[in-house]
Amino acid sequence: MAVTEIEVKTGRREEFVDITRAVRSAVEDLGIADGLCTVFCLHTTAGITINENADPSVRSDILSALSRMVPAGGYEHSEGNSPAHVKSTLVGQSITVPLVGGKPLLGTWQGIYFCEFDGPRRRRVVVSVTS
Ligand code: ZN
Repeated sequence: MAVTEIEVKTGRREEFVDITRAVRSAVEDLGIADGLCTVFCLHTTAGITINENADPSVRSDILSALSRMVPAGGYEHSEGNSPAHVKSTLVGQSITVPLVGGKPLLGTWQGIYFCEFDGPRRRRVVVSVTS
């Protein structure tokens, strides 16, 4: 297995940041052509997902749907960011993509997104490749 890290600087409280290009470049650096690529988020108020890379309103629709699903109040956690923790768990911490010919195998309309729910912050994402 080979592992590297990507830094993601988010600019808003909530946003989806397209990290597809950064993941491609990280995978190239790792030098393994075929296998499985995992993209893993090291945080409890953020997540990783794959979704449409064409119409940006898909991303804002997902963010607004998550906000309708997760109430703003009614939590015990004293830090005040419980909705972000809940959204992180709903979205998940990682995705796995087949790696073929040194490239993550993605559909035409698929992009890899870092999902910020408690920004803006500097975030760390691990990219690992297993042959
Ligand atoms: Zn918290």
